[in-house]
Amino acid sequence: MEKKRFYITTPIYYPSAKLHIGHAYCTVLTDIFARYKRLRGFECYFLTGADEHGQKIEKNALAAGKTPQQFVDEIVEGFHKLWKLLDISNDDFIRTTQDRHVKVVQDIFTKMYNKGDIYLGKYQGWYCTPCESFWTDTQVGPEHLCPDCGRPVQVAEEEAYFFKTQKYVDALLKFYDENPKFLTPESRKNEMINTFIKPGLDDLCVSRTSFSWGVPIRENEKHVVYVWLDALTNYITALGYDSDHPELFNKFWQDPECETIHILGADITRFHAIYWPMFLESLGLRKPDREFVHGLLMMKDSKMSKSKGNVVDPYPLVEHFGLDAVRYYLAREIIFGQDGSFSPEQFVERVNSDLANSLGNLLNRTVSMINKYFGGVIPAYKGCVTSFDGNLESVAKETVKQYEFLMDDLKITEAISMVNELVNRANKYIDETTPWALAKDESKQEELASVMNHLANSIYIAGMLLKPVLTRASDKLFEQLGVTGDLLKYENVYNFGCIENVTVNKGEQLFPRLDATIEVPFIQDLMNGNK
Ligand SMILES: [Zn+2]
Repeated sequence: MEKKRFYITTPIYYPSAKLHIGHAYCTVLTDIFARYKRLRGFECYFLTGADEHGQKIEKNALAAGKTPQQFVDEIVEGFHKLWKLLDISNDDFIRTTQDRHVKVVQDIFTKMYNKGDIYLGKYQGWYCTPCESFWTDTQVGPEHLCPDCGRPVQVAEEEAYFFKTQKYVDALLKFYDENPKFLTPESRKNEMINTFIKPGLDDLCVSRTSFSWGVPIRENEKHVVYVWLDALTNYITALGYDSDHPELFNKFWQDPECETIHILGADITRFHAIYWPMFLESLGLRKPDREFVHGLLMMKDSKMSKSKGNVVDPYPLVEHFGLDAVRYYLAREIIFGQDGSFSPEQFVERVNSDLANSLGNLLNRTVSMINKYFGGVIPAYKGCVTSFDGNLESVAKETVKQYEFLMDDLKITEAISMVNELVNRANKYIDETTPWALAKDESKQEELASVMNHLANSIYIAGMLLKPVLTRASDKLFEQLGVTGDLLKYENVYNFGCIENVTVNKGEQLFPRLDATIEVPFIQDLMNGNK
């Protein structure tokens, strides 16, 4: 059963450094889904934000000669700039240093503590005395060296609060069983069970005393809340959980008529899929309907990393190629849910094949022909005159159905690929129907008019289905087709033939063809940090 409302979130990003294309990827894909739901007329609430506490921020701020708050304020300013650049349509932006979050996290801690789900114990880890930092096994490696200063670390203990995970394991497994769609891709669920739950889950450390940049615990002033209890709860504090204004929380979280979806990266799956449902169970709240784990965006053959010199800065990419090309590439090239790689060659190839040669060219040819043969007015729809018309029309109708089915299931890449097939089909239709030949034959005028109408309607549908991705170009496409007013409403995609008797406006090519010999080296330079 389809739900009435949608709540969709990205992870809150950590402002210890500038965001890169990997963050842009996750946020753009989430934005596409939110825009799709809104386009279809559903109520949708889209949240992103910043995870601003922790030792790393405290240290980086100190090194930069700033207070942690000043430090994160500056970086978060950059988040807002980037989301503006990428046309991200989030409804809210939560910062974990905001009062609305801090107070509620303190309340949540108190509730769990009073319920006996949190207790005071001892945290044991690798400690670097000069850095005053605890590190994990992975961080110190086999040599047991501090990842920050390189000195040997020692095993040390500090007092800390813990969340009783064992109390909620059975409930979690039951929840997994009853909600097979909760975690996607499904392989992630098996990984959670076999790698983390079955071997025995340790209680989760939820406080620290070795740094102070965090949410202070009311019960014990030496402690601040540690990472996940602070970070994950942003999804409900932003909606006003436990506040004087719980309207959004009731509407977009607790109401079963709302589908709640978290989009996240693989590195934080464990926390979202295991601890987050446990926290919610402890608080007696509804759990999210879906957690969708997107793949890693790699640079060529390796994981993106600054030291390897293969990070792509989204700014020059968007400035040079335009936002639509970048959004389209991210959504179309890398299958949402699988790992993928960014390569300059593929970028240029994808923009040329799908946008310049297929969609842009189809629009351009069609508008030119309507100008030439019909004085710029799209001929009226008179059903299907030839079997070519019937075939294109049925492909277009089927595309709408498939697209919605795939998008609703977050299969964004496959959905866009369906639209691209429609565009290719329409281009082939021009070759099949040979309008230039029909134009020369007085007896074929009806056929020619039908071809122009079918082309215009197919382009219109493609433009509408791509609107969540191509936030700028789809409007230009509609303008060139002469589509205005009520015809801009999504529901027209169910009414093939509705685009008729309107005047087209010849405009610029939506997507100029890229010259690979120039553009590939341009992107390579970006990746090597030469620009
Ligand atoms: Zn150290």
